Order: sequence, then C-alpha cells, then structure tokens
Amino acid sequence: MTFFSFQPRLVIHGGAGTLFKGRLNPEREALAREGLTTALQSAVKALSTSALDAVELAVKALEDSPAFNAGRGAVYTHEGEQHMDAAIMVGSSREAGAIAGVQGIKNPIRAARKVLEASSHVLLIGRGAENFAQLQGCEFASPDYFHSDYRWQQLLTLRDSHQTALDHGIGVSEAPDKKQHLGTVGAVALDIHGELAVATSTGGMTNKRYGRVGDSPLIGCGTYADAHCAISATGHGEFFMRTAFAANLAARLRYGQYTLEAACDEALQEIEDLGGGGGLVIINARGEYAMPFNTGRMYRGTIVPNGAPEIKIYE
Ligand code: ASP
Repeated sequence: MTFFSFQPRLVIHGGAGTLFKGRLNPEREALAREGLTTALQSAVKALSTSALDAVELAVKALEDSPAFNAGRGAVYTHEGEQHMDAAIMVGSSREAGAIAGVQGIKNPIRAARKVLEASSHVLLIGRGAENFAQLQGCEFASPDYFHSDYRWQQLLTLRDSHQTALDHGIGVSEAPDKKQHLGTVGAVALDIHGELAVATSTGGMTNKRYGRVGDSPLIGCGTYADAHCAISATGHGEFFMRTAFAANLAARLRYGQYTLEAACDEALQEIEDLGGGGGLVIINARGEYAMPFNTGRMYRGTIVPNGAPEIKIYE
C-alpha cells in the first residue's frame, strides 16, 4: 500500500459564469457536466507521473468540448474571429509558457506547453505564436471546427448593445455586462511527487476588440504556480490584472499567516471592491484545495487518484 504524506489531486474550472444566480438551461448544464467529467477522468491518471501532464490533459479535454470558452468553444471577437490565450506553469521550477491572441490552434494549451519546453521565452503573441506552434507540430483547425451558433448569437447580442456604448466612448474594460459570457477553463494539480502545476485557457471575452488580452496568459494574474500553491483564475480579466491576482494570492499564503480560505476570500474581496467578478481554483503543496467564486456560478470539479469525479456548478 502507498502512503501519501499529502493528497495528490486535480482541481478544474470551466469558468465563473455570469453574474445571474439563475440556473442554466438543462441542455447547457448537461454539456458542461459532461465536459468537466471527461476532463477529470482523462487527466487523473497523470497524477501518478506529472502534474504538468495532468493539467495539460485536463485543459485539452475542456478545450475540445464546445461547452467552454476555450479552444473549440471560444467566444467571438467584435470582428467575428476567435482569438485565444493560454498559459501553463510548473511550481517547483517556475518554468512557464504562454500564448495570446492566436487563431486556429486546435489546443492552445499544447502551444503554451511548447513555449515552456522548446523556447527560451514565456509569452508569445499573435502571428509569431502561430508560426512557433506550427514549427512545433501543433495541430491547427479550420474556423468551422471552432464555430458554434451559440457563441455567434452571443456576439450578435453584445455587438449590437456595444455599438451604442462605443458611441458614448465606453471602452472594452467597462463594468461587467451581464450578457458577457465568462467560461475560461483551468486546472491545478498536485502529483504524487509533490509537484504543483497550473494551466489556463480562454477565448477571452465576447466582443473584445483592438487585440485585447486578458489575465489568463499573464503569469501572476490569471495563472501562477510556485512551490507552495498553484492557482488558475477566471472572471473579468482586467480586474485580475490590476490586482496581480494570482501572484498576490500566492504571496499571502507564502508570507502571511493565512488559511487557504482566508487568503482566497481576501483576494476575491479585492476584485469585488474594484467592481469585478470571478473565481479560481487553488491547490497547495499539502493537497488542500479551494474553488471559491463571487459570481452566480462557477463550473468546477475535482478528483483524486482512484476516486470519482466531483462536479459542482452552483453555490
Ligand atoms: N479571465 C478571462 C479574460 O478576461 C475571461 C474568463 O475568465 O472567462 O480573458
């Protein structure tokens, strides 16, 4: 029998949802639950070898599902394109890789991992990142693969409403619009060797423009891991950037006398005080974890080796 001094675990999220407290329509809910379950099941075995593999596999599965705003289900920009961001990081070495504003890469998290492993950089953007991904053998897919009527409809609703807003000079980082869909995906893991890792992937925000990039691919904002904890956030990226969210949360745990819950509460309160919303998944080096959020719901789940997936959506 193997005795663990800590509990290896995988914790994932599929986005913090809208500010509405109402329930999803049953079809969307079933799709989300199925996507989360598949992600947990496809990645849990990797906890016996590598936390980095586990988070990449989980995020890949979520990117492959049309239910989430990442990879296949990415939301549309104002111009009707899908620009994706992703980041991945290892706790002990703090090696990191990220890409932003890329199109057509089937699994952006694969490209982020290639940046981590095969480049001397941390963040590549746009055409350069796409060229790099191609050279590294990442798979590309046509716009048809990424298209969904659901996302297109989201853009049409929001694009029209923002037309008026733009006429009044309101920028893209304005206060939360209830119609904006937040569905970034992320995973944090602690493997049997005690290694921590994190991965986050997103299409950003519906109707984004001017090459807007959110917090997800920015190390220390939406994605961060060190030897003590791994964090993947979701929500209104501008607020998570302005608070250097994940790095500050990790610093609370590292230098302060915080419990996991107290540190998360304080970090999320900071976002709320500035007018933002969202949530996160976090795991520490002992395998303690949390999945808090201040929005109406957050798709989330966790699994341990030989365990069953636990999925939650509402509070
Ligand atoms: N944080 C992401 C962004 O701002 C959006 C999300 O989490 O859904 O790009």
